[in-house]
Amino acid sequence: MTKGSANQKKKKTKMKSSSYTPTSTLLPGSSSSQSSRKETMHSMKLKHIGGRFAVTHKVLKSEVNLSTISNSSERISQPMGWEEIADTNGWDPGYVESFLEKDALPPTTDPELSEQTKGKGDRVIHEWTKDVEAYLRTLIIMEGRGSGNTDRDTCQTCGSNDPQRPNTYRCLDCHNLGMVCKDCMVSVHQHHPLHRIQKVWNGNYFSKTSLKTIGLRIQLGLRPGEFCPFPTPTWNDDFVILDLDAVHEVGLDYCGCAWEKKGQVTQLLERQLYPATVTNPKTAATFRLLEVLELLQYESKITTFEFFQTISRLTNNTGLNAPKDRYPSLLRMIHEWRYLKLLKRSGRGHDCTRPVSQTLPGECALLCPACPHPNINLPDGWEDEPPETQYIHGLNLALDCNFRLKRKNVSNDKADPGLNKGCAYIVEDIAFRKFLEGHANEVEPKSTCSRHDAVNLADIRPGQGYAASGVGMVECARHNSKRPNAVCDIQKGERYCNMDYIVVMSLLFNFLKFFLISYDIACQWYIRLMERLIGISQGCVLLNPETVVRFVVPKFHLPAHIPACRDRFAFMLTPGAGLGDGEAPERGWGESNPLGPSTREMGPGSRRDTLDGHFGDYNWRKIVKLGSSLLKKMTTATSDVAEHVIAHQELEVSLQSEQVASWQEAVEAWEKDPSKPNPYEMVVKTPTQAAIRKQLAEEEAKALEEGKDFSLTDEVSPSSLIASGIDLESEQYVFSLHPL
Ligand SMILES: [Zn+2]
Ligand SMILES: [Zn+2]
Ligand SMILES: [Zn+2]
Ligand SMILES: [Zn+2]
Ligand SMILES: [Zn+2]
Repeated sequence: MTKGSANQKKKKTKMKSSSYTPTSTLLPGSSSSQSSRKETMHSMKLKHIGGRFAVTHKVLKSEVNLSTISNSSERISQPMGWEEIADTNGWDPGYVESFLEKDALPPTTDPELSEQTKGKGDRVIHEWTKDVEAYLRTLIIMEGRGSGNTDRDTCQTCGSNDPQRPNTYRCLDCHNLGMVCKDCMVSVHQHHPLHRIQKVWNGNYFSKTSLKTIGLRIQLGLRPGEFCPFPTPTWNDDFVILDLDAVHEVGLDYCGCAWEKKGQVTQLLERQLYPATVTNPKTAATFRLLEVLELLQYESKITTFEFFQTISRLTNNTGLNAPKDRYPSLLRMIHEWRYLKLLKRSGRGHDCTRPVSQTLPGECALLCPACPHPNINLPDGWEDEPPETQYIHGLNLALDCNFRLKRKNVSNDKADPGLNKGCAYIVEDIAFRKFLEGHANEVEPKSTCSRHDAVNLADIRPGQGYAASGVGMVECARHNSKRPNAVCDIQKGERYCNMDYIVVMSLLFNFLKFFLISYDIACQWYIRLMERLIGISQGCVLLNPETVVRFVVPKFHLPAHIPACRDRFAFMLTPGAGLGDGEAPERGWGESNPLGPSTREMGPGSRRDTLDGHFGDYNWRKIVKLGSSLLKKMTTATSDVAEHVIAHQELEVSLQSEQVASWQEAVEAWEKDPSKPNPYEMVVKTPTQAAIRKQLAEEEAKALEEGKDFSLTDEVSPSSLIASGIDLESEQYVFSLHPL
């Protein structure tokens, strides 16, 4: 016997199996007179199959007949006292025991590893389907008193079986508290006042009740174990706390003696309860609810209304006795919460020199850590970088507009001015609107390139009833991060003045020397750009004579431009552009478009703040993954560079060296000064097919005159034969792309 087979044998003898053989074929509740009837019964067995354990089932012969079914229906219709129901809820104990698999060996492989092989599906869920009955049964048992509650009349906490203090309460959130009396329920929940509790109301069923109903009061303003001699109830004693799993009506008292020291709001905040109003609050949300809601909105774009509906239905899902509607309060609280978190994360709570009202434009935006920031991540002397390598410390920007993030003309800036006020990604609104007033009647020049909708439809207003037709944005093109102070509403189409404004605002406090600006209509927009920028801010870094600015068109958009643009604004032909594509904003739109339907209904300030929150989270997720994503790109670049250099050298060797030298000279001159002749521009005119045919026909006519005839037949000349062949080939090609 080999060593391997010996091990196998050892394993086999060690293995135990859990199996059940029915002692009777009775269904629970069947009378003994029915014992002769046979019912369907599953026998389970734990088997060792292919190196792992699996539960196998064997279905015994079924002889269920109609009379059996009617008998079991009778059983259900009869009322059943607690005494009649055994711990196993009426099932044969041996049968229930078999599900517990007490003697099952621990699995030899990770039980959660589920190899999803194509066509075979998920192994784990296949296994689970065999146990559906057991799962379902346990869920139903748990709806009742549960199977572990052996002593039904005794409180599981104090041990009392006094009939005056029946153990009729249970908590849905305490872990394994069991059935307890009312007094224990109150005392156990002094530190868990937001648990959901139930009461047995007719001996068989549980109904919802609340800790407030059975006398629990939440005392604010004091340390644990302290009691206030002057507890002050909340306004009308009608306080509601919104938590993740319910809308709780609670009994809540402020500390009356601490009144002078701590107000209602502070007393609530210190218990991690966020009040809905500053004076006499009657609603609060738990901090954990606000934390979850904020992140959930960033992840799933769920609206506050949908979230409130969820907790409201968790409280009562019957449509009867709906909990109090505190949706408007929650809407206000999450708005304030996001703003507070924004300030906190930006360090605004630790600045004793400037109050929150003096927050600088874009100060709370998350900066892209991979972009160049003087005094943060640039080496000393970066300013002295020679022109050829200046792009190393350059900033690549990408501009674009989005017409899905519209806003309907509801509310107004006076009623809903918002909280952020330009401190993050969206520009400050009052200054922006003032700027727009000066450009209200500006007419955009028509495109000299292709018919770009972005240019030609710039003056077209959005549909009726809209206050904003979308947003314009400046992003960092290399790492897809939103720039601070770089998003604005657009009122008509993609007007230059809007884009000019956000470019200037996004470069406030910036003094880099090289900029690569990518925009799908860069070929039009860059014309007279510097003149327009002077009108916005003479201090804009792009106006600095030492600043180098190159314009490019994103790779996906470039083929729609005329040939001259395709050479002049190509990423691949622009030094320092690297392998970027300029399509960063498009990726961002994919992320924010689902916000369109909800944000278009918002007032101006709420919408700005909501979008700001989402843009900030987008940046944060970029930052978190930046390390691994840059490492991956760097690994690819460093491993592929040798291959590309060799390929380039081989190509050069195969060409005439004088020609290569002259090309090199022309390219370098153009790269230094784009106004020099562009060496990539096609100078040879491509003849049309018709012109070639004409030329061939003329040559044939001349040959015929000279008595030379190369035709195969009298009807088809050589040139028309070749032309038919080419046509046939192209038709074959088209057919191969779109087969019938
Ligand atoms: Zn008790
Ligand atoms: Zn509890
Ligand atoms: Zn007090
Ligand atoms: Zn960046
Ligand atoms: Zn163009």
